[in-house]
Amino acid sequence: MPLSKDQIVPALITLLGADSVRFEEAEMEGYLAEPRRRFKTSARAVALPRTVAEVQAVMEWAHEVGVHVVPQAGNTGLVGGQVPLYGDEVIVSVSRLGGTRHVDAAAGHMTLNAGTTLEEAHRIAEAAGMLFPLYIASQGSARIGGVLGSNAGGVQVLSYGTARELCLGVEAVLADGSIYNGLGSLRKDNTGYDLKDLFVGSEGTLGIITAATLKLFPKPDHHETALLNVAGPEAALALFTRLRERAGSTLTAFELMPRIGFDFQLKHKMIAQDPTAERSDWYVLAEISVPRGMGDGGLAAMLETAMEAGLVGNGVMAESLAQREAFWTAREQMSEVQSKEGASIKHDVSVPVAAVPELIARGSAAAKAVVPGIRPVPFGHLGDGNIHFNFSVPEGGDNAEFMARDEAVHAAIYKVVLEMGGSISAEHGIGQLKTALLKEVKDPTALKMMRAIKSALDPKGILNPGKMLG
Ligand SMILES: Cc1cc2nc3c(=O)[nH]c(=O)nc-3n(C[C@H](O)[C@H](O)[C@H](O)COP(=O)(O)OP(=O)(O)OC[C@H]3O[C@@H](n4cnc5c(N)ncnc54)[C@H](O)[C@@H]3O)c2cc1C
Repeated sequence: MPLSKDQIVPALITLLGADSVRFEEAEMEGYLAEPRRRFKTSARAVALPRTVAEVQAVMEWAHEVGVHVVPQAGNTGLVGGQVPLYGDEVIVSVSRLGGTRHVDAAAGHMTLNAGTTLEEAHRIAEAAGMLFPLYIASQGSARIGGVLGSNAGGVQVLSYGTARELCLGVEAVLADGSIYNGLGSLRKDNTGYDLKDLFVGSEGTLGIITAATLKLFPKPDHHETALLNVAGPEAALALFTRLRERAGSTLTAFELMPRIGFDFQLKHKMIAQDPTAERSDWYVLAEISVPRGMGDGGLAAMLETAMEAGLVGNGVMAESLAQREAFWTAREQMSEVQSKEGASIKHDVSVPVAAVPELIARGSAAAKAVVPGIRPVPFGHLGDGNIHFNFSVPEGGDNAEFMARDEAVHAAIYKVVLEMGGSISAEHGIGQLKTALLKEVKDPTALKMMRAIKSALDPKGILNPGKMLG
């Protein structure tokens, strides 16, 4: 029998003090409601430890009495991993574990506590004259523990990699309260299994990350950013290949966007005017980050030859920081604007980069066969092969009727993705949204290995029950 609220709350108060425990529904609301308001249950309580020792004390107790724990950081995850599934869980939020442990600009790393927001991490790096290059639209709220727990990606993966590649070490409290101290800053260490990588992307199922050592990079001198008309995904891919050849790793972002996303933003007054001088069916946002001492990064010249080769139509180079920000805002609003246009069905998928045009063509046709009139809004990180393959309700269509077809649309898209050797979750993870799907699509041996790791580290199954492996 799960412990009742009356048993759990006093125990947590004894461990942490009354100020660090929330248990009334109203005061837990901010921890229970996630961004898409899809997954809503309750929790026995929310624990807000201030120190690693307090996290350990909570886990030791939870392990002993068999209480289920949901690790939470910024509560911005999109697959429901950070909120309870059953209602008898305790949320352990690392939001109070903020702050810097160590910054070493010369060696190129910093160690931050897990409650530090991504935006704060950017500021800490910047204050040391360095760059921490992980940018996502939720960076004001997302925290290091959750960013690593979900192996976040974002808009510069092309050049710097996902959270996993930016992480040199982690400290984590295990299910039984013991601590794994893997905070080394070594770039090379071949002394057995890479245990830190178990925690990155584990979505709170293996331990609670309490701190991490993260890579720092030299700050670029300046950015060269362009918003470009392209004929379609094939032309965008050809442009990407060309820019990548010429700019190498200085090409830090390459984002594909469809016209319909800008039409929605104009209609709902999220942008004031057309993005470029001439209307286009497709757009690319390309950015080069130019290292210090290099002078001109050469994007304008590269685009001129790309125009001559017929890969780019009209385009605008950002001439100020404000203009660059406006381009990026329009890109970030691609998802948000869809909620203003009515119901939408979303997928976060990836395929080999060269297969993105085929994915968009086949996926759009497959969804249209399921729901005639459905409006595809595929956009995102073409350079990573990662497309947010979203669909809006047909014009004038009924939202509820449309959403009743969501499983059929998902099935059509995932079938195409899997046939193309892709992933059903490129960035956002499994959480509680895709547990059934994971069982269907993941290699059986890989699933067996994942279950073995889970039961070795969390034999009582108290960490994030029902998530990822179900
Ligand atoms: C507007 C918006 C834009 C987004 N854009 C992107 C994007 O571009 N790329 C991308 O990858 N994601 C994106 N996301 C998803 C989300 O922001 C990221 O997954 C983010 O990394 C989650 O961080 P968080 O602190 O909010 O974690 P939470 O939501 O609190 O948790 C996420 C997962 O990590 C686990 N977790 C939390 N804390 C810990 C911990 N200390 N130790 C172990 N596990 C833990 C949770 O149990 C959960 O499974 C976006 C979300 C929104 C709302």
